[in-house]
Amino acid sequence: MGNVVVVGAGIAGIQAALDIAAHGIPVHLIEREPTIGGHMAMLDKTFPTNDCSMCILSPKMVDVARHPDITIHTCSEVEKIAGGIGHFRVTIKKHPRYIDESTCTGCGDCILVCPVEVYNHFDAGIGVRKAIYKPHSQAVPDIVIKDPDHCIECGLCYDVCGPGSVKREDSEQELVLDAASIVLSTGYSVFDAQKKPQFGHLSLPDVVTSLELERMINASGPTGGKIRRMSTGKTPESIVFIQCVGSRDMPLGRPYCSCVCCMQAIKNAILIKEKNPAMDVTICYMDIRSYGKGYEEYYERAKALGIRFLRGMPSDILADKNGLILQVENSETSEILMMHPELVVLSVGMGPAESLPDLARRFGIALEETGFVRTMHDALDTTSTLRPGIYVAGTAVAPKDIPDSVASGESAAMRAFRDAFRLRSA
Ligand SMILES: Cc1cc2nc3c(=O)[nH]c(=O)nc-3n(C[C@H](O)[C@H](O)[C@H](O)COP(=O)(O)OP(=O)(O)OC[C@H]3O[C@@H](n4cnc5c(N)ncnc54)[C@H](O)[C@@H]3O)c2cc1C
Ligand code: SF4
Ligand code: SF4
Repeated sequence: MGNVVVVGAGIAGIQAALDIAAHGIPVHLIEREPTIGGHMAMLDKTFPTNDCSMCILSPKMVDVARHPDITIHTCSEVEKIAGGIGHFRVTIKKHPRYIDESTCTGCGDCILVCPVEVYNHFDAGIGVRKAIYKPHSQAVPDIVIKDPDHCIECGLCYDVCGPGSVKREDSEQELVLDAASIVLSTGYSVFDAQKKPQFGHLSLPDVVTSLELERMINASGPTGGKIRRMSTGKTPESIVFIQCVGSRDMPLGRPYCSCVCCMQAIKNAILIKEKNPAMDVTICYMDIRSYGKGYEEYYERAKALGIRFLRGMPSDILADKNGLILQVENSETSEILMMHPELVVLSVGMGPAESLPDLARRFGIALEETGFVRTMHDALDTTSTLRPGIYVAGTAVAPKDIPDSVASGESAAMRAFRDAFRLRSA
């Protein structure tokens, strides 16, 4: 008793776990993926400082792994919860990893010999991984996972593994945890750009999403940090970003602003322009929202670098034998422009995690019409759900950037800690 369960180990959940454990309260951190870190681990740099995302995140991931009061459960999801504030019983299901976690050293010898290559979810679709793999080189825990859906049982990894850690068979395990309180930090999913077929994602090779661009721009990503046209493999001479794809879109049922897309487009435009000064970079937008500390200055820096901001949204993207064609009305001048960019980046919006509706039902908590978690008050209490003892942090509440996700993780941690502390001192 007196433990806290944190569900979802992105930056918000990691921050909550560290803050709670810093007060001597044991934390169980539940993560569905084989590594903790969430979306922040996929990013290259972070605005407005252009700090390397993993340079900030990785030390926190390591702190979590080393903390004596934090137990990480990867490949795990919540099956059901019973009880109430002060005496929850949380049943978790751990999916098989096909690896002996206690002996795998993470050396990666098995990855080298595996002959199977498949689409890598972590590289947002533009990179590949093996059938036995680590999601990325700084994964925590630093061990591999075998994917039974793609393994062809060639046997090479069993032979090469020194400690004999690769398992032919493995099974699901169930674990029941006691918790005084729970923090839900399941984050977001990016908008599926195929729901806007007029923009040609996956049918036109030179149309990518902002998350795919993040992986492309990342030196440790699948292109080694090089911006590439998917059609030719060459560096594009011109790029157009299209904002608000899957945000501020009433017919799609996504009326809200996703908060980070303007800033992340400005960030990537700056990074590209700084490396390739001759490249023609345009951002097509409805409004630029640069609301945070240092954000407006960052926007001005982009303009000074020669990045063009065009107020107007193309209705579709067409292609002919010469490449992509976009028609845009500049809403400031009413001029109609025809553009022929070599690469288009769709700034996809944020929605709730795909697992959230099911999880909310199991947790007995309410969701908003948008699918994000309903909290006690939209201004005064954005971390308490309507069910006592269950708190919510980060982008599970609404779209947020990293600084706001961290602040929200800290706030949820304080409330969850209070419940656990009361129980301990009772
Ligand atoms: C293209 C792009 C670029 C961005 N660039 C920046 C930037 O430069 N600066 C900035 O401040 N912000 C940026 N952001 C926003 C940033 O990614 C988020 O603010 C931050 O990652 C949110 O963290 P989180 O912990 O709330 O969610 P997530 O990172 O989504 O973490 C949620 C975690 O919960 C896990 N999970 C989900 N469901 C379950 C379940 N049922 N059970 C167990 N675990 C579960 C997930 O696997 C994940 O690990 C960017 C966003 C995008 C899309
Ligand atoms: S399974 Fe074996 S070979 Fe593969 S990383 Fe772990 S210890 Fe190394
Ligand atoms: S047994 Fe499966 S995971 Fe191991 S090397 Fe062969 S294909 Fe890859």
